[in-house]
Amino acid sequence: MDLDRIALKWALKNAVEHNGRAMIGPVIAKILGERPDLKSDIASVRRAAERAVERVNSMSLEEQRAMLMEIAPELLEAKRVEEKRLPPLPGAEPGKVVTRLPPEPSGYMHIGHAMSGLLNYLYAKMYDGRIWLRFEDTDPRKVRLEYYESFRRGYRWLGIEWDYEKNNSDDIELFYRYAEQLIRVGKAYVCTCPVEKIRRLRAQGEECEHRSLGIDENLSLWNEMLAGSFLEGEAILRLVGDMKHANTTMRDPALFRIIEHRHPLTGNKYRVWPLYDFAVSIEDYLCGVTHVLRTSEFALRDELQNYIRSLLGLNRHPVYIEYSRFEFKGTPVSKRRLRTILEAGLAKGWDDPRFPTIEGVRRRGILPEAIREFTIAQTGFSYAKREYDWSLLFAINRKILDPLARRLFFTPNPVKLLVEGAPKASIEAPYHPSNKDLGSRILRTSSEFYIAGADAERMKPGEVYRLKYLLNFKVLEICGSQVRGEFLGMEPMKDVQIIQWVPADEYVEVEVLVPDVLYLNDEINPESLRIVKGFGEKAVETVKLDEIVQFERFGFCRRDSESKALFIFAHD
Ligand SMILES: [Zn+2]
Repeated sequence: MDLDRIALKWALKNAVEHNGRAMIGPVIAKILGERPDLKSDIASVRRAAERAVERVNSMSLEEQRAMLMEIAPELLEAKRVEEKRLPPLPGAEPGKVVTRLPPEPSGYMHIGHAMSGLLNYLYAKMYDGRIWLRFEDTDPRKVRLEYYESFRRGYRWLGIEWDYEKNNSDDIELFYRYAEQLIRVGKAYVCTCPVEKIRRLRAQGEECEHRSLGIDENLSLWNEMLAGSFLEGEAILRLVGDMKHANTTMRDPALFRIIEHRHPLTGNKYRVWPLYDFAVSIEDYLCGVTHVLRTSEFALRDELQNYIRSLLGLNRHPVYIEYSRFEFKGTPVSKRRLRTILEAGLAKGWDDPRFPTIEGVRRRGILPEAIREFTIAQTGFSYAKREYDWSLLFAINRKILDPLARRLFFTPNPVKLLVEGAPKASIEAPYHPSNKDLGSRILRTSSEFYIAGADAERMKPGEVYRLKYLLNFKVLEICGSQVRGEFLGMEPMKDVQIIQWVPADEYVEVEVLVPDVLYLNDEINPESLRIVKGFGEKAVETVKLDEIVQFERFGFCRRDSESKALFIFAHD
């Protein structure tokens, strides 16, 4: 790898870890760490680092991630140190663990998928194991190409690297062979009862007349199913289970059904599709999955899946670990409920920052590192249903962002301030009080400013305030939408409230979308998205798309538009 490429790699890594901004010093250190032989030519190393940092800093955070994924994906992987904090996995042997990401591409990836995926991934890493990305895509009516991509993009964004990828729909012929095998040992039969009858008999624990058909008859009916002699809904292949079993999933469940619908990957090639349990039982075996970490609504299915495998002679079952669904207060993950909100025009798209979709959460300014930390912190394998409060995730996000985000002045609902006697000034103010690497900006001022409306509202004549980094003034009068004050010097004073400001002749119009929860007490929250308008200091123009900054005394906000100063509020 040549020097420029090495520099580019480390600049990307540094930027991705620092909210989109690479710094020259750490990049040089990394280059020399990788190539100590270059210490004799430090000038070239520095120039390469400078070029790389300049290039990388002109890219958006998403572009940086994408490029790093392309040239050095190993640098995007989750950090080792975190994985050590997970509780041990029962029956896990180093080097032998295989887990899976099993998304059904029937909707956009959401935060619950993310947390589940992270657990499976982190455990695979913790035990030097392997992980599959396997799309459970055997319901052609539900799956869509864009959803496959939503999951791939989402997992990548989280830093999850999978070792293998496949689709259940790749294996339809194989599923047919296993189905025939079951029929031949008398463990599956074709049932042509109407749906209501099947439902009624299952509830009553009674068999239908088709259960006693002979093997030859079943084989020929099965072949007719495959050949298209039955229409959708006219025939299913059922497992010979136990119609009196306490676990109702064991009561002769359907294994295959007919779906007359074009599949986005296999087209019209197949019309007989396996149901979830059948496909998963076989795929988990074929993939050599040793541990399945999943939410507890699947708990009743373990028995059925183990049973299907046993009948087929596939005698190796994964260890199942179940935990309650990851849900957040006021934020349904149900597609139906989210669609209601979309159709009512209350949100613009699935990437709405109030939505639990990965795109929504990303736009909200939540970092993948925060989701990872949060997931690890919450791992207790508890069955109890619980709803998380967003504030827990925000707290972790804030902790990560606080030392990395530039702090800028923003004055919501601005009011003009005239400070009589204030000299023209030009001051250099750091972007961060302790992280000097973030640099500084120059603020040029005269005697007119804008301050936040809320600050102006509180002021009373005679009170003294300080414009941060700049000057002190005494309030003289508040008339209409303007505050008049008297200059009291530049040196900081004791016990004076410090406020944010922007120069009256140099500011940027800023709009911030402030999301809140979609539901309050199970009713749609009418105030779930507020728009706050105000003025930001000139340096707002230097904030890149996707960069998260802290508007002082307002909150962390992510830039959402390249062409205008539109931000989305993450949290305070
Ligand atoms: Zn029947």
